[in-house]
Amino acid sequence: MDQKLAERITYIKPSPTLTLDAEVKAMKAQGRQIVNLGVGEPDFQTPEYIKEAAIKAIRDGFTRYTPSEGILELREAVCEKFSLENNLEYLPDQIVITCGGKHALYNTMQVLFGPGDEVIIPSPYWVTYPAQVLLSGARPVFVDTLKEEGFVLTPEALASKITPKTKGLIINSPSNPTGMLYDSSHLAALAPLIKRHNLWVISDDIYENLVYDGKEFVNLPMVAPDLKEQTVICHGVSKTYSMTGWRIGFLAAPKLVSEAVAKMQSQMTSNPTSIAQKAALAALTGPKEPVVRMQNIFAQRRQLVLNLLEGIESFSTPIPQGAFYVFPDVSSLFGKTLHGQKIRNSDDVASILLKECEVATIPGSGFGYDRAIRLSYATSEKEILDGLERIGNFLSPGSQMASQDRGWLKKALGPQPRGSKGGL
Ligand SMILES: *Cc1c(COP(=O)(O)O)cnc(C)c1O
Repeated sequence: MDQKLAERITYIKPSPTLTLDAEVKAMKAQGRQIVNLGVGEPDFQTPEYIKEAAIKAIRDGFTRYTPSEGILELREAVCEKFSLENNLEYLPDQIVITCGGKHALYNTMQVLFGPGDEVIIPSPYWVTYPAQVLLSGARPVFVDTLKEEGFVLTPEALASKITPKTKGLIINSPSNPTGMLYDSSHLAALAPLIKRHNLWVISDDIYENLVYDGKEFVNLPMVAPDLKEQTVICHGVSKTYSMTGWRIGFLAAPKLVSEAVAKMQSQMTSNPTSIAQKAALAALTGPKEPVVRMQNIFAQRRQLVLNLLEGIESFSTPIPQGAFYVFPDVSSLFGKTLHGQKIRNSDDVASILLKECEVATIPGSGFGYDRAIRLSYATSEKEILDGLERIGNFLSPGSQMASQDRGWLKKALGPQPRGSKGGL
């Protein structure tokens, strides 16, 4: 029999980040000492009070179907979060609880976009956006942002890609992979165009709570309240509360959209896991200390990574203001030959770092930006030190990093009190 899959599934590739993660785990299983700077999830345990809430939900028998849009208490807690943290007022029927932030994005695109539509994605972008736009039947349209401009979309760049078919725009701040943050002036500059062309905006706010250097998080409806009616905020508990495996996300949208998403979920997943919803409720309403502790550890690690990267001359790293990634430009290596291998692009850089240093990173090519690689600092200080030391020794032999003098290391570790092992 001539077996054929649907055309739809041929449009997309598996997530490169998840693929790499599987490869690294396999290499580790063979006993290789891989330092994994490719990961995209916090390495902390989910805080104890959140786990306890899930255990209690099981004991209490909270194990049946819930409403498709999620339990009312949790939707109310999400409204409270938006009101307190963002000064945005939503009613519970404008909130949908989903099986992770990724699912919130997917469902939003399914109800907003279809064949004939164009959706603008600023690059570098998170690998999932183009795949989800394609799965909706629409066409992703990429618009380059510049390193010199902090990888932020400008009105001129946006205008250059708008056509009569443009239906939506995706904004992700802080960004995966660049760690860059939109401030109010960036968003205010985009607002008139978005309004004039009546675009739907998907605001992926998943890294809202990981912002550094006293910078302030803002999203489009906070800056341009009249655009709240054309914005869907996609969010979740994965990154803030170290809850990636629980699969709880949420969205806030005009009622037209939230009701459509709830209808879709009713025919698709029925509801997000009942006990995970109780855990997410505990997360949103519980003590904030564990979250602050994780934020502080990420801030320390970010400083450590930036200090270490200064010693690697062939990398040029814009200073990220959020999330847990750095995105060094590695294009100064292109055209060179390292250990007999000619370096042509970001794939070659990531590949040689994995082969020669046993350090896993993600090539920028998958994020639509072939001049950089993504390093994650959602891992222990020991791994960060070890990984960057190996890269430094390999790329800059003869530099201070490769010398026996550990002065650079002391400097990188900085004046902060040591002893934090990064666990909770
Ligand atoms: C991690 C991530 C998400 C959502 O993750 P979930 O685990 O599905 O909640 C969404 N957007 C970006 C940019 C991410 O990095």
